[in-house]
Amino acid sequence: MNILIFGPNGSGKGTQGDLLKEKFGLDHIESGAIFRKNISGNTELGKKAKKYIESGELVPDNVTIPMVLDVLKHASKNGWLLDGFPRNIEQAKQLWEDLLTDGEKINYVIELQLTRDIAKDRIMGRRLCVNNPNHPNNIFIDAIKPKGDFCRVCDGALSARADDLDEDAIDKRHNIYYDEETGTLAAAYFFKNLAEEGNFRYISLNADADIHQIKETLLKDIV
Ligand SMILES: [Zn+2]
Repeated sequence: MNILIFGPNGSGKGTQGDLLKEKFGLDHIESGAIFRKNISGNTELGKKAKKYIESGELVPDNVTIPMVLDVLKHASKNGWLLDGFPRNIEQAKQLWEDLLTDGEKINYVIELQLTRDIAKDRIMGRRLCVNNPNHPNNIFIDAIKPKGDFCRVCDGALSARADDLDEDAIDKRHNIYYDEETGTLAAAYFFKNLAEEGNFRYISLNADADIHQIKETLLKDIV
């Protein structure tokens, strides 16, 4: 089973991805991890990617695309869950072309939908518990709102990650994600059109719903 998952930062994509990965024994292929692996392994593509990442630039498609496609080719027989790629329309077209060439198919494309304002709040509202990073606390999500300044689970002290409060960085990532002309949403819609032609199923989910409800819907829809 091969699954492509789209969702902005803040949509809980990682959590839902883990669920699918476990249920179907899929390789979780995540573009950030591929970069890190190539860089630590000092591959030719890794050296190129490093230069861009270190100067705070986006890694260009001619480096990213071959890296990801290579990993897909060596994925487990159970299939893959691809996360963080394609990030733009160009990558989407290349991916589809490559899959067709290899006789590989996609079974499901999942889009986690969340408005830009809510996605940003969710990132900026995250708080980390000093006792356990897995204690969920978010000042903007009612179900997991901290007790004042303290962890809702254990009363531990809370802090925020600097990255989560970096509004410019969040906006930059969201500018790419929410771009319907050439960005990530354009890539998602490219696959949505292919789904309408009967190539695979495209599932849109409201990521603002309760996290358990999203899980249930996902597990029910994907068989
Ligand atoms: Zn705690």
